[in-house]
Amino acid sequence: MPLDVLTNMNRLLLSSTAAAAALLLTSASAFASTGGADPNQPADPGEGSGGAGYGAPLVTLPGKPRLSAQKLSSSTVKVGSRASLVVRINRSKGTSVQVKIAIARSGGKTINYSPGRITTNRSQVIRLPKLTAGSYRVTVSIFGASAQETIRGGVLKLTVKPKSGSKPKPTTPSPPAPSSGVFPIRGAYSFGGAGARFGAGRPGHIHQGQDMIGSSGLPIVAPLAGEVRYVAYQGDGAGRYIILRANNGWDMMFAHCQYASAAVKPGERVRAGDRLCLLGSTGASSGPHLHFELWPDGWRDSPGTKPIDPLPQLKKWAAN
Ligand SMILES: [Zn+2]
Repeated sequence: MPLDVLTNMNRLLLSSTAAAAALLLTSASAFASTGGADPNQPADPGEGSGGAGYGAPLVTLPGKPRLSAQKLSSSTVKVGSRASLVVRINRSKGTSVQVKIAIARSGGKTINYSPGRITTNRSQVIRLPKLTAGSYRVTVSIFGASAQETIRGGVLKLTVKPKSGSKPKPTTPSPPAPSSGVFPIRGAYSFGGAGARFGAGRPGHIHQGQDMIGSSGLPIVAPLAGEVRYVAYQGDGAGRYIILRANNGWDMMFAHCQYASAAVKPGERVRAGDRLCLLGSTGASSGPHLHFELWPDGWRDSPGTKPIDPLPQLKKWAAN
């Protein structure tokens, strides 16, 4: 039986997709240049680094990062809405850096947000958490390969206004399940037994996906068209894994692919049926299988996002 190491870390990951970009309000304010590293800033211990989460990249690459742009999509939001922060981190080497965001409330506590590793050399959108009404100072910190590469951006001011009306907003329902799409494994597979199911017990945690057992080397394909968010490796968990954001906003995780089998790169657009990788057994896995997760509201995009049981959707794709 596959041994998956899963933790439900409430990590905020940034979104780089059009869907996330659509959250940006039409603010015309210019990007605030922040000037890069400040040697007088003390090194931050880097809470949130280290890849304790299932699927968190562990590799640290060299190359001094630079915070080349940061701005809030809007300096004012209403209670219940989430502000979006746009950052661009340039780096000569490496494809991602560890980021932490401090949100200090005037006369109150500071919330430390760990979006995890974010992709460099392109503008990225980070959705901040829902905040209570008040004034906040938002600071972005970047952790490079060493303490010398730790830099901190300038302070961004954010105001959260109380709601004028008092009607509670209904929560956004998950997008309807697509009737189209293809099954993620090309070839013979099995859904396994009870232990392969979403919600099955694992030592110290709950299984967050569906395992599908198949022969090593079977093509793993995109069930829906979308954009690749992450191609990463986690030796003690997901192994070689890929995160795909479908055009309907769903994030899908494909774990334990063969090590060098990734056929796509972050940012690459794929069509349904395009190959992502080959079925394997990398990471914490006791045999060839695909570990598949479905996150309707984004893979660890905010503390509230959670995966759902993907089996009903997988069965729909299997019937197509
Ligand atoms: Zn699994």
